[in-house]
Parts: sequence; structure tokens; C-alpha cells
Amino acid sequence: MIIARAFAAAATALLSPAKCASCDEPMAHEVVFCAACIATVERVDDDYEGDGVEDDGVIAPLFYGGAVSTAITRFKYSDRADLARPLAAILCSALALADACEEEHARGSYTVVVPVPLHPVRLAARKYNQSALLAGRVAGHLGVAFGPRALDRVRDTPAQASLDRKGRTSNLSGAFVVRQPRLVDGARVLLIDDVLTTGATLSECRAVLLAGGAASVTAAVIARVAGERGMRPPARSMMAG
Ligand SMILES: [Zn+2]
Repeated sequence: MIIARAFAAAATALLSPAKCASCDEPMAHEVVFCAACIATVERVDDDYEGDGVEDDGVIAPLFYGGAVSTAITRFKYSDRADLARPLAAILCSALALADACEEEHARGSYTVVVPVPLHPVRLAARKYNQSALLAGRVAGHLGVAFGPRALDRVRDTPAQASLDRKGRTSNLSGAFVVRQPRLVDGARVLLIDDVLTTGATLSECRAVLLAGGAASVTAAVIARVAGERGMRPPARSMMAG
């Protein structure tokens, strides 16, 4: 399968210094994950339908789990801002493939890359917004504007994980505002987050951006949490693709 091969090639030909993003194992080649870790990485099949309507159209190349969740958790909570580089490379590969394959959600030429914002209180605790680090690298790769302050999070909310689906949606109402209207008005926005869970956060950000005049909003994440309704396909190694 061409897409799978291209992705595997992209994911195994990227980076330096050569240390696994999940376990820090030194590696001979510039890749994201070592051989042991990449065996735990599951690619999202092209025909995966998600588990609901909220996440439709989100570019999400990998399932959250194994080495992917380990790397993202270290990136977010262990002061490992350096992992933005390999993790952003996964995003860039997925975006390039989405464009090359002309999938319905791939609109090509974005005009600005915008991260899902963190509330200032959480930002202070974490030191950096992981999504902004990813978005900045993606913007540089694409050669388009970077809008780290285009959206702002004005209301801190209970952890999404503690709520059910309905609660997650209402929990976020009014949480985001457009802070830089001129950057958003008429823009083709590429919205970046690290992980897609229910899609409620991306949906709310997308709605706020469109209300702010964005011409289009395409969302991309590194990984999605597999569907809650048993739609997850059989485990499949990325290398087997
Ligand atoms: Zn590893």
C-alpha cells in the first residue's frame, strides 16, 4: 500500500539527534522511534471512520497507545520540549500525505497555523504549550504564518477526561476566543493539537475560528484515541503496512 509505505519511510527517515522519542534509546539512523518501540505504533487506516461525527475530517495518522502515548506524555508532562521536533515531523508527514492523496479533508495551501491554546494557569504549570511547539514547527515546515496567539483560552475547565461526551462539549462552551481577528478573518486555518479524544476541543476551536471569519479550518493531531464503540481495527504494526 503506497500510503503506508510512504508513511513508514517518512517516519523512519527524519531526525537528529538519533534518540527514540519514546525510550531515548540511541539509534544509528535519524528516526522517530527505535525498532522495539515502532512495533507498538499503530497507524490509522485510510478507511477508519472514527467513532462519531465530532472528529470528522481531522488529520490523525496514528492511534494513541504504545510508544506514541509514551512519547506524547513525556512531551507534555516531563519537561521534554525537545520532543516537539520528532512529534512535529509525524504531523508534517501526515499533512504531506493528506495533500498528496487529495483526501477530502486536505485543502493544501493553509494561510496560518494555529495551536489549541492552554489556559494561562496551565501554561504556567507546564512551562510551554505543547500544541504551540508543534504548530510552530509545522508552520515553519509549510512556510506559512504561525498564530500562537490567534486563539486564547479564557476559561479554565475541569479536565475533559473526567467528563462524559455531553459534558465535554458543554464544558468547553465559551472557553476559547479569537484574540487576533486580523490573522483569522478570511484565513485558511490549520488547527493543531497533540491528541484527539472526543473531538470536542477541536470542534469548539473550529467553531470559534469560523465565527471569527476563517474561510476554512482543517484540524491535525499526532494521534487519536481509538473509538469507544468498538470500531478500532485489529492491531497492526506501522511497519507491517
Ligand atoms: Zn524506543
